Amino acid sequence: MHCPFCGDLDTKVIDSRLVAEGDSVRRRRECLTCGERFTTFETAELVMPHLIKRDGRREPFDEEKLRYGLSKALEKRPVSVNEIETSVNHIKHKLRSTGERELPALRVGEAVMAELRALDPVAYVRFASVYRDFQDVSEFADEINKLAGSRKPSNV
Ligand SMILES: [Zn+2]
Repeated sequence: MHCPFCGDLDTKVIDSRLVAEGDSVRRRRECLTCGERFTTFETAELVMPHLIKRDGRREPFDEEKLRYGLSKALEKRPVSVNEIETSVNHIKHKLRSTGERELPALRVGEAVMAELRALDPVAYVRFASVYRDFQDVSEFADEINKLAGSRKPSNV
C-alpha cells in the first residue's frame, strides 16, 4: 500500500477493526518514511445485481448514487455519516441476498424508504413524497442534480 503523502511503499498497520457490522475492515496505517497516518477500508467485492429501470433499460448498481440519495434526504437531520454508511450496507445486503442478477430499480427505492423510516421520520416523509413521483432512486438523484445545477446566483 503506497503512502498517499510521499508515495513510499513502507507503511505499517497500527490499528485494525471491523466496521459496518463486520462487512468491512478499517485500518489505520502509518508511513514509515514520512510518519503520516491514513485510513484504508477493505471490503469484500461482491457482485451487485443490475437494475432494471421502468423503461426497461438496465444499469449497473451505483453505490454513490444510493449514498447521495440517502444523504440528500437526510440533509440537516440528526443522523451521522456512520448511520448513513450502515444503511447503505443494509440496502446492498438486501439487494444481494435476493440472489438475482437483475432487479427492478424500484426495489432500491423501497429499501431506501425502509431504512429512512427507521432512521429519521422527517427524512422518510421528505424522500417518500418526492420518490413516489419518480419510483426510481436514480431518477430522484438525477432530478436533484438538475435542480442544483439550474440554481443561479441571485445577484447576476
Ligand atoms: Zn509517507
